[in-house]
Amino acid sequence: MRNLIALFACSLVMSLASANDPVPAPAPAPKAVAPSIKPALPSIKPAIAPPLSAAAQAAKEAEAEAELSAKIATRLAAMRANQVARAAAAAKARKVAEQRRKEAPVAAAPVVPAYQGNHWSYEGDTGPANWGRNPAWSQCATGTRQSPIDLRDGMKVDLEQIVFDYKPSAFNVTDNGHTIQVNVSAGNYISLQNRTFELVQFHFHRPSEERINGRGFEMVVHMVHRDADGKLAVVAVLLERGKAQSMIQTVWNNIPLEKNDTVAPSIVLDPAEVLPVRRDYFTYMGSLTTPPCSEGVLWLVMKEPVQASPAQMALFARLYPLNARPIQANSGRIVKESN
Ligand SMILES: [Zn+2]
Repeated sequence: MRNLIALFACSLVMSLASANDPVPAPAPAPKAVAPSIKPALPSIKPAIAPPLSAAAQAAKEAEAEAELSAKIATRLAAMRANQVARAAAAAKARKVAEQRRKEAPVAAAPVVPAYQGNHWSYEGDTGPANWGRNPAWSQCATGTRQSPIDLRDGMKVDLEQIVFDYKPSAFNVTDNGHTIQVNVSAGNYISLQNRTFELVQFHFHRPSEERINGRGFEMVVHMVHRDADGKLAVVAVLLERGKAQSMIQTVWNNIPLEKNDTVAPSIVLDPAEVLPVRRDYFTYMGSLTTPPCSEGVLWLVMKEPVQASPAQMALFARLYPLNARPIQANSGRIVKESN
């Protein structure tokens, strides 16, 4: 207790001494404190003589309290300023990280999962751009002998005539969900280069898949033939608007009512009816134009289109408005055409 009193007396003496000093310089007290203290000071001076009055004691306490408040306020302000600075730094770091992510190479993007199932179509996720994602159909994406192509800058040569040996045949018509396909009975052949290919089926695309010097046609018929070794040769007959085509009408008359159904009429159909009069053609090595896009297909594209009526075109368009694979890269392949 005595110690405390001594300490109190000592500090009191010191504060009195400083209060009595001639004022050599502005008070060292913090600026914020000054306004609240000043009114109290005049009351201290008259009460300087010991013992210390109660008023002086109260003023002293008020001063200490004000000083403490000022210190706390200063400290709080500093802490708040720190907090704001830290938040700003964090925001800046987030921004930089985000920018880095945006600028990161495309390879960092998630790998597209392999395409499952055997469904394919002509648009969207199952469309031509994605066929090659199915591992069994990888050639659709990686092949360099793909079809269709734009037939241009062909080497004009004396191409051997294709010998067509077609005859009226039994047939059936299937809507396979991708096109209307006509399967014909055995006994229809084409011959060229000492090879004979048998007609297996023919089907339709709208618009034509192949182009000639950039020009597309309204539709095309693909007549698919196979030789004894299983090699394929496809004769393409381009269709343009004009008069009605009788063989096509026979096929349309027998289109199934449901997809994946087949109609097997008791009449016959002569595939020769759909061939143009002139048999000049383009030829190149390509592929199937549908999955699995297998290569090694000999393409024979008739130069002269055949006519079908607008009504016949419109009927197919109701079923398949678009069932054509886009043009594929030529990749330096040789295209020959009849002189
Ligand atoms: Zn086809």
